[in-house]
Parts: sequence; structure tokens; C-alpha cells
Amino acid sequence: MAFLRIWLLLLSFVLVAPGSRSQGARSLQKCHSYLQTEFKYGEHYLYFDWLQFQWHLKELQTLYPKFLSIETIGYAGQYPLYKVKTTGATSRQRRLRVLVTAGTHGTEPVGVASALDLLERYGRDKSFRDKVELVVFPALNPWGLSRFSRRNQQGVDINRSFLDGQESENSRLLMKDLSGESFDLALDLHGARSFYEHFLIRGAADGGLAENSIRAISKKDRLDSETGEYPGSFGGYTLFNEGVSESSNMGTMKSYAFDQLRIPYAYTFEYPGKVNPRQTHRLNFRLVMSMINHLL
Ligand SMILES: [Zn+2]
Repeated sequence: MAFLRIWLLLLSFVLVAPGSRSQGARSLQKCHSYLQTEFKYGEHYLYFDWLQFQWHLKELQTLYPKFLSIETIGYAGQYPLYKVKTTGATSRQRRLRVLVTAGTHGTEPVGVASALDLLERYGRDKSFRDKVELVVFPALNPWGLSRFSRRNQQGVDINRSFLDGQESENSRLLMKDLSGESFDLALDLHGARSFYEHFLIRGAADGGLAENSIRAISKKDRLDSETGEYPGSFGGYTLFNEGVSESSNMGTMKSYAFDQLRIPYAYTFEYPGKVNPRQTHRLNFRLVMSMINHLL
């Protein structure tokens, strides 16, 4: 009898194990087909998930140990939430202080890649280091990034949880860490899966910063309103100009940055999920640099 029980136990492992492997393989395949292609860091071309992200972050730390300081602000489940601060600038002039968050939705890895690009730029470019100080949370939803899930481990949309009483474990750690900090600019990097063009969501009227910044990409890549007139709308967003919108969603990182941290310029960046990610990534990063350069 004991022998039979052990045999059944072994059989159940054999039956379960291939199933879980094929599920893992399927989600990896889903991730591959979504990204279609790989991203470039230095000499490396690689596609992107949580493991690749960690690999790239360590690579950046190895490449630029003097300029990047990586810490963990806490754990969401078993996963670390990383914070990267820039260091080692030699200039005495006042630098633009920029807060960057990405990977809040695990299905939007291009934003994570752009956040890492920005750190790479800082490490490589002395003139950039002299003008800018960065605080970057490159992957706010590691569980989601590792499983290609929009939500976190508890099924919460983190980008609706930056509200008192409605925090997720991810947003709680971030808000605790940022409490009392001040920044000149906040960029929260996202993607919109059903869109073909880029757009920015601003905190409020911004003196034309978003409008001027988004001109770094061509008109065909900026989101139009349904009628082509402004103000107008598209997909539930109010558009004030091509690719410049506001949103009434509560509890977003952008609204926390704008309303609670009082960061004067706070934006959600949305890249189009329907476009080849290699091209999208390039334009997404160009937009990030364009907005920073407009404030320098
Ligand atoms: Zn998003």
C-alpha cells in the first residue's frame, strides 16, 4: 500500500510538471511575440522580461559603478523593488531633478527599457550628468513583468493605487520612499496596447511643455483626436493637441506626483502597443529625452 502511495505521488509529479512547463513556455512565447524583437543595450540585443531586466540592471551597475547607485526599497511578494539614483556629477550648477517610474503594468516593458536607456545615457554622457539628476524606479511591478500581467500579485492595478486607503504593496513602498522629496519633472512610462500612436497625459496645463516635447516625433506618430479638432477626444482621453491629453483616472502615479508631491511637471507617457516595439522603443526614448531637454 505504501509503495502504491509513493508510486502515485511520483506519477502526480510527472503529470503536473510538464503542464506547468508548457504554461511557462506559453507565457514566454506570448511575451516574445508581443515584443517581436529585441532591445539594444551597449553591444547586446535582447528581448525583455523580469530576468532580462535584472540582467541589464546589473550590467549597467558593472559598466557605470561611479554613476549609478542601486538600492532596494522593499519587496513586493518575493520580488525586490529597485531604486536607482545617479551619482558622481562634478558640476556645481543646479541640476534638473527628474523622477522616473516604469513597469507599473507588467505588459508594458518598452517603458522599462527606456528607463534603463536613460540610466545608460547618464553613465555614458558627461554633459548630461552635469545637467540632470535622476531617481529611477525602473520596474514597479516585478511580478507582472515576470508573468506578462498588467496587475500585481494581488490582482491590483498599481496605477489606481496611489491613493490613501487604497494602496497596493507596490505603491505603499514607493510613496513611503518618496515622501518629502521634491523634483522638477516626473515621468511615468506606460504603453497603451490598443493604440497605434504615442501620447502624453499631463497633470494640468503646462505652458506648452508636452506639446513642444512631443514634436520630437513626427505627426503620424502622435495621437489625433477623433475629429482632428482640439480640444477633442480619443478612446476616453481628452486631447488638447496632437498627442497631448489629460485623464480623470484616480490614483495614478502621475496624479500622485502632481497633486501630492507637487511636482510642477508630471506626465504619463503612453507608447503604442500596436506598433513594432523596436520602433516604438526608439520613439519612446526620444520623447523622454525631448521633454528633459526642453527643461534644461
Ligand atoms: Zn500602463
